[in-house]
Amino acid sequence: MVKITIDGREFEAKEKTKVLEAAKSHNIYIPTLCAHERVVPSCLSMVEEGLAVQTNSERVISERKVAIQKLLARAPESPAIKELAKESGVESTPFPLEDHQNCVLCTLCTCVCQEVVGVSAISKINRSTEPNAIPYTVNFDACIACGSCAYICPTDAITLTDEGNTRTIIWPYQKKNFRLAKCKVCGRCWIPERQIEYMAEKSNQPLEFFDTCLDCRR
Ligand code: SF4
Repeated sequence: MVKITIDGREFEAKEKTKVLEAAKSHNIYIPTLCAHERVVPSCLSMVEEGLAVQTNSERVISERKVAIQKLLARAPESPAIKELAKESGVESTPFPLEDHQNCVLCTLCTCVCQEVVGVSAISKINRSTEPNAIPYTVNFDACIACGSCAYICPTDAITLTDEGNTRTIIWPYQKKNFRLAKCKVCGRCWIPERQIEYMAEKSNQPLEFFDTCLDCRR
């Protein structure tokens, strides 16, 4: 254990804990947008002996406001960003508006696709902070339509809808329809065909192993 101080209060925290986790475990709120325990890039600061953290000093509040104003310029229509701005007292932004279609370039989608799903269908190659740039490219041939990117996106810049036998995923400036497979027992369209192919390959199971939905397996 190490001793740290947050806003003048002393706590003990496990070594190799992130500052954000330590604060949360002591019910200290730090506004976050893209912190996620399964993916690496955000909120990396680790606790260490004697660390003193300020979450509400004048300087922190002022810099947090600027950060939120920048997010607001990038994704002015995102409900999550609007909420974050509201709770931080930010009503407008002095920065020029950009159009990344609600994407704030946090890279969570690219990380989850690469590190958790293991597919790397979303590429950071085109990730650019230039106003109105396409934030990244999606390799439609590699994408298995699992929807992890839509699930993890903190700003709803990626959306997923299932209708009939079609899953539609919309990324900023990009859209693709994928066929859903039917359960052979109940007939419900339940999973993208590409995801079945991917799981069959990874698990060395025949495709038929995945022809029944989870409900009908029970
Ligand atoms: S689409 Fe969403 S998850 Fe991906 S970089 Fe943009 S804000 Fe982050």
